[in-house]
Amino acid sequence: MKLSFYGADRSVTGSCHMVECAGKRVLIDCGLYQGSRELDEENSHPFGFDAASVDYVLLTHAHLDHCGRLPLLSKRGFQGEIITTAASRELARLVMLDAAHLHEQDVSYRARIAGRRASTNQIMAPLYSVADALRSFDHFGRPAVYDVPIELAAGVRATFINAGHILGSASIYLQLTEGSQQSTVLFSGDLGKSGGPLLRDPTKPPAAANVVMETTYGDRLHKPLGPSIEEFYDAVTNTFKGGGNVIVPTFALERAQELLYFINQGIDHDRLTKSTQVFVDSPMAISATEIMQHHLEGLKPEIAKRIQDGHDPFHFPGLHFTRESAESAALNMIPAGAIIMAGSGMCTGGRVRHHLKHNLWRPESSIVFVGYAASGTLARRIIDGAKEVNIFGEQIPVRARVYTINGFSAHADQAELLTWQKQTGAKRTFLVHGEEQTMRSFATLLGDTRVELPVPNQVFEL
Ligand SMILES: [Zn+2]
Repeated sequence: MKLSFYGADRSVTGSCHMVECAGKRVLIDCGLYQGSRELDEENSHPFGFDAASVDYVLLTHAHLDHCGRLPLLSKRGFQGEIITTAASRELARLVMLDAAHLHEQDVSYRARIAGRRASTNQIMAPLYSVADALRSFDHFGRPAVYDVPIELAAGVRATFINAGHILGSASIYLQLTEGSQQSTVLFSGDLGKSGGPLLRDPTKPPAAANVVMETTYGDRLHKPLGPSIEEFYDAVTNTFKGGGNVIVPTFALERAQELLYFINQGIDHDRLTKSTQVFVDSPMAISATEIMQHHLEGLKPEIAKRIQDGHDPFHFPGLHFTRESAESAALNMIPAGAIIMAGSGMCTGGRVRHHLKHNLWRPESSIVFVGYAASGTLARRIIDGAKEVNIFGEQIPVRARVYTINGFSAHADQAELLTWQKQTGAKRTFLVHGEEQTMRSFATLLGDTRVELPVPNQVFEL
């Protein structure tokens, strides 16, 4: 029985872990490395295992840093079954297709530049194509239902447990038997927090001998949600008074829907004007909003009931969805009075970079960050106070007001992570999905458990 690590080791992205038991190889997540050019390059490196030898992939949730290398896995010979919840399956397809599309776009952009410089000796290929992503969909098998165990093979049983992080998200509990040896491993996936507006609260984890847990916010406490919402309303009101726009780099899954919900509430309670104009400039966020309304099982009962009764908790008169890129470009002409939500949340790509280019230099505009920004990303540079940033080869001065509102986070904070770990009673705790410094400070808070900080390709006996 072995547990090995192939991503998000002493770093935040690229989640990929493997359990070997009873002759089966089970991968938990196969995510993309994201954040910097070096990390981007990491994605094309060998996995550290033979893709064809993997029997199952259990997917915790649909964020790109958890599912983004699945098309590559199938391109490199994976023939097994991918198991995840029905909602994650729909969202992961969306996310993987979007990523494939961006890889293709990036290659054709670089090929055009190379062509102009007449340096055609470079062979360029995307990490994976849209066709590769489509082929990987064929591997999605049985849907997982929360709390219902699935027998993967004799000796390997998996149970998905609601993690409350994004729609469909799960922690995965493995019960393993090999000969006379028995063990349990609980993978946290990304853990959400209780008390959010839309999603059901995370389920209390079962007891497990071993846990593999995320530590994104292992060194920080979040501000409470209530003051964060007020801060957001104030940022919008002040910016509009000053004659600017509010740019919100948004994670398309969850955060976009949560913000729409809060804006709607703000209008209902007169914290925002009835005429507030909001542009959701992200085809993925638009689709994710639709998907959410079809998966009521993941939502708070009162929200699910409102949707069942025919109300749309995300809609208000000033809301505009811009799917087409021409519509997106037209938003650059708006001088003031608009909230523009666009991806990617960490500003590593996507339409938000255009909106930043047109608004960052304007003192009357605001940039409101509402999510995690990994080090090395454009979002992080702006948050850390860069005076100037490079966007599309142009130096843009940062004159807009920058807000970082972390109470919206879809991740558990230090206190919630500690509670979760305690509830598992784990004898051994493997820390992943965090910056190394964060892991080390989190490790000092853990009580009676053996703490491991795996490095890539490290293998442990269970
Ligand atoms: Zn996540």
